[in-house]
Amino acid sequence: MQNLMKEKIQKKFTELFGEGGKFYASAGRINLIGEHTDYNGGYVFPGAIDCGILAKINPNGTEKVRVFSLDFDQFSEFGLEEADAPKESWARYIFGVCRETIKRDGKVGGFDAVFAGDVPLGAGLSSSAALESTFAYAINDIFGNGMAKMDLALIGQSTEHNYCGVKCGIMDQFISIFGKKNSLVRLDCKTLEYKYFPFNFEGYKLVLLDSCVKHELASSAYNKRRESCENVRDAIKKNHPEVEFLSDAKRIWLDEVRDQVPEEDFMRAEYVIGEVQRVLDVCDALERGDVETVGEMMYQTHFGLSRLYEVSCEELDFLNYIARKMDVTGSRVMGGGFGGCTINLVKDELYEEFVKVASEKFEQKFGHKPKVYDVIISDGARAID
Ligand code: ADP
Ligand code: MG
Repeated sequence: MQNLMKEKIQKKFTELFGEGGKFYASAGRINLIGEHTDYNGGYVFPGAIDCGILAKINPNGTEKVRVFSLDFDQFSEFGLEEADAPKESWARYIFGVCRETIKRDGKVGGFDAVFAGDVPLGAGLSSSAALESTFAYAINDIFGNGMAKMDLALIGQSTEHNYCGVKCGIMDQFISIFGKKNSLVRLDCKTLEYKYFPFNFEGYKLVLLDSCVKHELASSAYNKRRESCENVRDAIKKNHPEVEFLSDAKRIWLDEVRDQVPEEDFMRAEYVIGEVQRVLDVCDALERGDVETVGEMMYQTHFGLSRLYEVSCEELDFLNYIARKMDVTGSRVMGGGFGGCTINLVKDELYEEFVKVASEKFEQKFGHKPKVYDVIISDGARAID
């Protein structure tokens, strides 16, 4: 796939801009476990995947950026001042990265670029982070800014906040920059400390089943969940002033405030505090090579997201149910919920049968097949020879 993309990019680049330039790439991501923990100051456990964005970029000695999107077959040209924001929404990600680099005292000059990608858009694999990270990494390299990798991730996140209207956490941009082949990275969203864990279970595959549904509820429910978490945090903080985020709270501290918070808020917090612990348990299990425990924790997360946090939906619960019934090792809804994918940890010998049966049964019930994405844990942002 990448070779094919590279050839197409090369051809278009030569046609539009001639010689010169260098290739850069970055990746989409999965998150094995640690959902709705980021804004609660807890852990996430993502990995970069083998689909991403590939770009060829060359400084052009002007103050203008000229960039062509192969996938949208569109050209955009913009300056580097705040007032120069392009109208094409895909180009705003690149413009934002330029602006956020400049705001951090980085040098950015004009450049020519052609890019393409193979992360499905809006499927919950973070194609936008792949796009931001590719350009954040490339600009830092080309203009010799010597910024730390974490700053590049923060540039991507601020781009979403300030130029794309998405108030996201740091996970997607972090892993798209820091991702490493065959490794997952546990990120502490409060301190931004992180640790790599080898992830290469022989005999197992990771596969995503995309329900291809997106329920309207998503963004209003997201805000409500955040409010519930903050509400419980505030209640706990009265007894334990050191609690800054809900993830700082011990389970028994939650029980102390049971009568002081609405039942619904209590359930939300119960999920979050459990989930933070599950990430740690999964990391321990990985270090022991204990795949069964990893899988079991994924099912527990699904249960929590479905019954306590209440962000699942019929389609996702159905996919999870089929996985459980077929003895798939682990399965859960991935991402914010109300649609999107389940992530499944499946034994090699069960893989084909699972994908076939789940697809058929899903289609019988919902009238369309889920999309299937095989996941290989791969490198994040990098220059390519
Ligand atoms: P996701 O969950 O995949 O990150 P978003 O809505 O956040 O979904 O980001 C998708 C947007 O990112 C697209 O609408 C487009 O503007 C930009 N984008 C992602 N991949 C590409 C690509 N290959 N080519 C052009 N733009 C892209
Ligand atoms: Mg996105």
